Amino acid sequence: MSETRFDAIIIGAGIIGAAVGLELARKGYRTVNVDRLPAAGYGSTSNSCAIIRTYYSTLEGCAMAFEGYHYWRDWNDYLGVVDPAGMARFVECGTLVMKTPHNRFLSPVMAMSDELGIAYEEWNPERISQRVPAFDLRSFAPARAMDDPMFGESTGEPLRGAVFWPQGGYVDDPQLATHNLQCAAQAAGGEFRFNAEITAIRRDANGRVAGVTLADGSRIDAPVVINVAGPHSAKINEMAGLAGTMNINTRALRHEVPHVPAPADFDVGEGGMVTSDSDIATYTRPASGGQILIGSEDPECDTRQWVDPDDFDHEISDQGRVQVMRVAQRVASLGIPNRIGGVVDLYDVSDDWIPIYDCSDLPGFYLAIGTSGNQFKNAPVAGKLMAHLVDACENGHDHDAVPVRFHLKRVNRDLNIGFYSRNRPINRDSSFSVLG
Ligand SMILES: Cc1cc2nc3c(=O)[nH]c(=O)nc-3n(C[C@H](O)[C@H](O)[C@H](O)COP(=O)(O)OP(=O)(O)OC[C@H]3O[C@@H](n4cnc5c(N)ncnc54)[C@H](O)[C@@H]3O)c2cc1C
Repeated sequence: MSETRFDAIIIGAGIIGAAVGLELARKGYRTVNVDRLPAAGYGSTSNSCAIIRTYYSTLEGCAMAFEGYHYWRDWNDYLGVVDPAGMARFVECGTLVMKTPHNRFLSPVMAMSDELGIAYEEWNPERISQRVPAFDLRSFAPARAMDDPMFGESTGEPLRGAVFWPQGGYVDDPQLATHNLQCAAQAAGGEFRFNAEITAIRRDANGRVAGVTLADGSRIDAPVVINVAGPHSAKINEMAGLAGTMNINTRALRHEVPHVPAPADFDVGEGGMVTSDSDIATYTRPASGGQILIGSEDPECDTRQWVDPDDFDHEISDQGRVQVMRVAQRVASLGIPNRIGGVVDLYDVSDDWIPIYDCSDLPGFYLAIGTSGNQFKNAPVAGKLMAHLVDACENGHDHDAVPVRFHLKRVNRDLNIGFYSRNRPINRDSSFSVLG
């Protein structure tokens, strides 16, 4: 008979859930990751663009992402196991971000990069044209809806330049990366249960979390339960009786990522780079097979599609089509296929697009949620941070009264975990977009 008592239950086996399982198991906790899907990384992680970049709108965001970069760079050493299914690969192609009034010509982010020792190069328009001849360097801002008569019209103004961050890129297979974490967690003694849907979260007589109940009626007991349910985070919080107890809440947001063939003069194959362009409110990422992935940077003109995570449309629609057409403004040679392929999935968006890594009002119940389309890159750090937080709180620390601090080893800097509190005021420094 399978074990029913553990030290910690992790709800979800996505990239962050698996990382939390790994780090708690490494600390000696008897852990089980429980997921309703058949394998690790099959939830929103599977459709992640898995871009690794170090530019965020807050210093904490940049620091955590730069810390995370090092884990992807040293992935095999960090895991210490060889997954028989193969190892995910970090393609360090660098990231090119256009300077625009929207991002204050990147001055704040360059200042934060300077403070954290993150390398970057400023590229003037000539340098951009040398590297990416296909780019039309006129401004088209602001991004517009497809039915706007001004759609596709340039302002006539030239872009001022861009910043290239060489320490960035993407992970070629986010699902495999999650499986790699699962293997490492299992090597450290962690367990995984799949096809196991949690339908209730139980409390003991003292009002502390006691475990979970599954759809088949079976129970798993543990004094620690962690919500890492991605776009289902709000539903899990509701099950735990926590609805209405937090200042920052989470919702599922539908997002489309079209995949289109890269034109010959847009060097975005294996040797290409990630681009982020707030002038046209899109980002691109090279992909295998000469394709590029196109994501949205959430411009105001686009309607946000808040959905029920158990009931949403999985087909590419005009949302994806407009993203392709916006990139075609910058890259005129981009063909727009009649039928656009790609993926549709959900972000678990917090009110200020910054995640919640925290304890909760239910003793023993923790939160790693609200990842807002931008935390794949941070998964290894989030795993360590959450394990540190759980361990501190389980050893009597009152995190709500005196926030726990977490040392970012590679960046050599302390992070106040209170920055990610469920009860913080909305962080007005945020981009309120996928950029975090
Ligand atoms: C289209 C898209 C593009 C993205 N691009 C990037 C990017 O380029 N860079 C970046 O850093 N981030 C990106 N992200 C964000 C990143 O992928 C997520 O932050 C990350 O994958 C979240 O991982 P997770 O483990 O928290 O959640 P998930 O991967 O969603 O895992 C949650 C798991 O919980 C399980 N679960 C839910 N409810 C229950 C239940 N009741 N019982 C049991 N199990 C349950 C689910 O089955 C699921 O497997 C992107 C996200 C999307 C959707």
